Amino acid sequence: MSETTKTLCPYCGVGCGLEVSPPAQPGKPINRDAQGTPIWKVQGDKSHPSSQGMVCVKGATIAESLHKDRLLYPMVRNSLDEPFKRVSWNEAFNRIVDRINQVAATQGPNAICMYGSGQFQTQDYYIAQKLLKGCLGTNNFDANSRLCMSSAVAGYIQSFGADGPPCCYDDLELTDCALLIGTNTAECHPIIFNRLRKYHKKNPNVKLIVVDPRHTATAEAADLHLAIKPGTDIDLLNGMAYLLLRWGYINSEFIDECTVNFPAFAEVINHYPPEAVAQTCGISQTDLETAARYWGESGQVLSLWSMGMNQSSEGTAKVRSLINLHLMTGQIGKPGAGPFSLTGQPNAMGGREAGGLSHLLPGYRVVKNEVHRREIEEFWGLTPGKIPSTPGMTAWDMITGLETGDVGVLWVAATNPAVSMPDLERTKAALKRSPFTIYQDAYYPTETAAYAHVLLPAAQWGEKTGTMTNSERVVTLCSAFKPPVGEAKADWEIFAEVGRRLGFVKEFTFSNSAQVYAEFVEITKGRPCDQSGISHEKLTEKGPIQWPCSETLDVTVTSLQDSKRLYTNGRFHTPDGRARFGAYHSRGLAEPPDPSYPFVLTTGRLYGHWHTQTRTGRIPKITQMHPEPFIEIHPRDAISLGMIEGEWIEVRSRRGKARFPVKITKGISPGTVFVPMHWGALWAEQSEANALTHPESCPDSLQPELKACAVNLMPISAK
Ligand code: SF4
Repeated sequence: MSETTKTLCPYCGVGCGLEVSPPAQPGKPINRDAQGTPIWKVQGDKSHPSSQGMVCVKGATIAESLHKDRLLYPMVRNSLDEPFKRVSWNEAFNRIVDRINQVAATQGPNAICMYGSGQFQTQDYYIAQKLLKGCLGTNNFDANSRLCMSSAVAGYIQSFGADGPPCCYDDLELTDCALLIGTNTAECHPIIFNRLRKYHKKNPNVKLIVVDPRHTATAEAADLHLAIKPGTDIDLLNGMAYLLLRWGYINSEFIDECTVNFPAFAEVINHYPPEAVAQTCGISQTDLETAARYWGESGQVLSLWSMGMNQSSEGTAKVRSLINLHLMTGQIGKPGAGPFSLTGQPNAMGGREAGGLSHLLPGYRVVKNEVHRREIEEFWGLTPGKIPSTPGMTAWDMITGLETGDVGVLWVAATNPAVSMPDLERTKAALKRSPFTIYQDAYYPTETAAYAHVLLPAAQWGEKTGTMTNSERVVTLCSAFKPPVGEAKADWEIFAEVGRRLGFVKEFTFSNSAQVYAEFVEITKGRPCDQSGISHEKLTEKGPIQWPCSETLDVTVTSLQDSKRLYTNGRFHTPDGRARFGAYHSRGLAEPPDPSYPFVLTTGRLYGHWHTQTRTGRIPKITQMHPEPFIEIHPRDAISLGMIEGEWIEVRSRRGKARFPVKITKGISPGTVFVPMHWGALWAEQSEANALTHPESCPDSLQPELKACAVNLMPISAK
């Protein structure tokens, strides 16, 4: 392999195109990392429609992760206090298959569960669904997207009848007003922010509103920053709706012809007059009115959001309250307008398409829908009724299932729950009790590997071919450009081999990932995420393709303009074709501050961080950018507590404690503190943010409220 390969950045959901070339090029010095190791050369792919050649520091340094701390061979042990010993793949597979058969026979298939990842390629996701939901007959497949995007999924489904962001990145450069709420886009989705920022600078009339309790790099660029109190998003959104309605900025024709339930929504927002909302949110009434005026007076309004909205015990209600603003003003289905969720991981979107959450089935189907179950059973050649009619365990259910003994096999792949789950002390105690944990990953050590009985080496980005879908529904073929290290295998190959050894031979006859994708797209035919017109061959020939793309669509740039935006004709995926207003009152935080725990802790990501540092923690340029954890405290709070810059303090919640050095800044509101959440025990043992968080979840999306909990702060000497 000596040619340049086009692929995708495997970090965040922006999905930037990359070009990768071998370390040695004729007539050029060998490309090396800072330690002198030859590494593949990475640069932005100018022809990629989403990123247009841009990359951030993570994409630019990704090649350095290919050779660091790789898990090379299968390893096993009988108990957690034993060392691992290297075994052959045959022995590892036999152990897994024996244990699955034994647990299925004694506890039933629902005692087997898999926790996967938005880092999977779509092919990995699809084969995992077929293995768990099809062959084993349990819906216990959940992914770390549960912690990341499931409120967006539930919000889209409830409002529009189907999942799927309706916008595209070109809308960033066509809007008159962008509302960024619960997203630090500048640090977490940098290339999207670059596109928006450049456009905003060139067009001073375009309004940029940022809603965030912190003064982030994103807020720094805003025309209007609303530093609301954590947990008051719905108050703000309903308050804006109140003003838009009173001031006559609504689109009555759109409401009448394309939506239902507006009267119930109008009744709810009637309770959110601006004086009360401003006070609840901790902002000025003038700022609230300015935000509503910017929205109402703009021809095109785009909203962007991510974890700040989704990771909430009322996440779905927040998402739907934002969508309500678009529906009441007709700001959807046209250039520069619409609600646009930004995914955290590179292929969380592909996971949603492949049915990669415990309540979903492939092709944007849901477990609870009998017709959907029958369609999948027929497609997979299963007996009717094989797929259970109830959703399987969510990520958090797997933790509680370990506590109760209901989980006999836990299979974790490409994710790191021993850092990313809420209530870490409880999570770790549960993982310790697991009778049999398989951990499949590219890296070793990780925090979760410490709780495994079997370690399986997974091929990393660049070592396997498959597809990923980014936040704007663009599917890119990520081609292998080097062989896997050691004995690593692609995730889907591992799942398929276990399936065959369990006796499901005809179900897993694939000899390459193109065949897996071909079967998957067949099942999307006629569905909202139709990809039946896409194949590995077409992606190789034409480059990235946006869905919906049916088999009848001629894949040319012109015809694909039809796929850029969803709902352009005002018809939605609900039975009557109309979008639904949701009518929600604000419930606030699941754990509000009180005299014992008087501060609200909020958590987030730094520019160079990603996925608990499993990859970024191994790249010196990135670790030097963020050398140690910290806690942001407002000067007023620091003075009242007698805390000084750089002093280590202890932060306690009802569940646990952690220590951080103090960073005093006016960028955080009084009464709120912020800590970055990607430092796990491997990198900063005392500073795990999720030691403090709680698992209270949204009743619809079952996404935990990782963004906020009540804490107290104390100098370490005062303990
Ligand atoms: Fe990769 Fe996201 Fe950075 Fe693009 S913005 S280079 S996808 S990490």
